[in-house]
Amino acid sequence: MTSQRTRDRLVARLREQGIVNEQVLEVMADIPRHLFVDEALAHRAYEDTALPIGFNQTLSQPYTVARMTELALEHDSLGRILEIGSGSGYQSIVLAQFASEVFAIERIKPLLEKARQRLRSLRVRNIRCLHGDGFQGWAEFAPFDVILCAAAPEALPADLLAQLSPDGFLLAPVGGSEQNLVRARLTDDGLQQEIVEPANFVPMVPGLQK
Ligand code: SAH
Repeated sequence: MTSQRTRDRLVARLREQGIVNEQVLEVMADIPRHLFVDEALAHRAYEDTALPIGFNQTLSQPYTVARMTELALEHDSLGRILEIGSGSGYQSIVLAQFASEVFAIERIKPLLEKARQRLRSLRVRNIRCLHGDGFQGWAEFAPFDVILCAAAPEALPADLLAQLSPDGFLLAPVGGSEQNLVRARLTDDGLQQEIVEPANFVPMVPGLQK
């Protein structure tokens, strides 16, 4: 159920849905997604579907992870990525294959701790995790080349925009019941926004949960 054949089928599906970046597909065929969900759900880990990770949250659908990664890779030189809403840590580990360092923020403490454990046991060394409120970003390690929100704010968070490097961009699903994935950058002419496609993420919630 977690065999290479099952993973290859997932990759074939992602390709059908329009994911074209071969490096992203390769990485997703390689990384053991079943280790990022409870054992009882492991047999569904290579279906193209979101899976519950507890606390009313989900591990994003593989298509979404692939698409966000593909978009992040449009940055010419990916140094630091800030990820808001790291949940299970799966999107973080995918990003970590391409960026020099991933900074992952999660507001729900038990999720963060579980993700940290998983990443440690997989010996990933270039991800730093923080129990924090993503609306504030992570000023200590700013600026970031890409900031990626895996949860949807109602509007672009100003503190995050302020932590972008000069050629950096923010990728965020923006909205409430209707969301659009937005790519935003700060240019000499001010804030530049581009709608990439419709999106459907859990809401970004302010504050911490113990
Ligand atoms: N990328 C994750 C998807 C997790 S779902 C994965 O691959 O598993 C989105 C996550 O965003 C949830 O875990 C939720 O707790 C978190 N989140 C929501 N608002 C947040 C905030 N303000 N700061 C940090 N994390 C937040």
